Amino acid sequence: MSARIIDGKAIAAGLRAEVAAGVARLKESHGITPGLAVVLVGEDPASAVYVRNKGRQTVEAGMASFEHRLDASTSQAALLDLVRRLNDDPAVNGILVQLPLPGHIDPAAVIDTIDPAKDVDGFHVVNAGRLATGLPALVPCTPVGCVILAKQVHPDLTGLEAVVVGRSNIVGKPVAQLLLAENCTVTIAHSRTRAVADVCRRADLLVAAVGRPEMIRGGWVKPGATVIDVGINRVAAGDGTARLVGDVAFDEARQVAGAITPVPGGVGPMTIACLLRNTLEATRRQHGLEAPG
Ligand code: NDP
Repeated sequence: MSARIIDGKAIAAGLRAEVAAGVARLKESHGITPGLAVVLVGEDPASAVYVRNKGRQTVEAGMASFEHRLDASTSQAALLDLVRRLNDDPAVNGILVQLPLPGHIDPAAVIDTIDPAKDVDGFHVVNAGRLATGLPALVPCTPVGCVILAKQVHPDLTGLEAVVVGRSNIVGKPVAQLLLAENCTVTIAHSRTRAVADVCRRADLLVAAVGRPEMIRGGWVKPGATVIDVGINRVAAGDGTARLVGDVAFDEARQVAGAITPVPGGVGPMTIACLLRNTLEATRRQHGLEAPG
């Protein structure tokens, strides 16, 4: 038996089309064009690709895109000044500062300076706290993408045993919070978890957000489980080139799982689609507009 492959690329395209339709309605009914500002400090090549893709997809969704590319030597004070200006700019509804930042800048200070109402990455402590306490929040994009993909297989997640491997603030913890809100029984595993393979084997829904290439083997997967692989790891392909692999050993796991996301083409494309959704949502809230049902 081979698992159903969850096509994140197609699902993300559908979500982007929904967002574009929402943007068009907002323009037509209220004359409002959502605006997303993306700030890149330095020349990290992977970040530059992400920022370019974000800008392109923002414009394709009918929104305004504001890109700020700063030199790697930009001071923290100058970056915080820019963030404050974006907070005050009514044309900017969402602000994203691309991580990682150069070593001399404290990412926590930057995230803390972003207006929580414009924090479309959902990393501000106000949004993290709102998510944890069940209040409406801007929720981190990759975790929302994971839940949307899981719901393709289980429209109602209630009662499922969910295991999240990884406890970072940007992926593991918010995924766990979202799954808890969906009434899963949630276990969070991390580098100090004992017998992590045994913990994974309990999961009806296994979310891997570890950053270790193919760590989760086929034998760690419960037969029929749904596996959501967040990992993006670049490994040598043997012929001198590099290839992307997830945190799950895909070829093994697909023999055991009921459904699985591929890497690339699974969670990855969902992240920008959810960022656009957050930007639309943030714009509506800033204008006191309810999301249409
Ligand atoms: P972090 O490095 O911040 O967190 C990794 C987590 O994995 C930590 O909680 C760590 O535990 C845990 N971990 C590490 N080793 C083990 C182990 N041997 N057993 C169990 N747990 C372990 O990574 P991120 O959360 O930022 O990212 C995770 C992965 O997701 C990466 O591959 C990243 O590239 C990818 N990613 C993909 C995105 C996308 O758009 N698809 C977006 C963001 C990330 P501890 O806390 O104990 O150290």
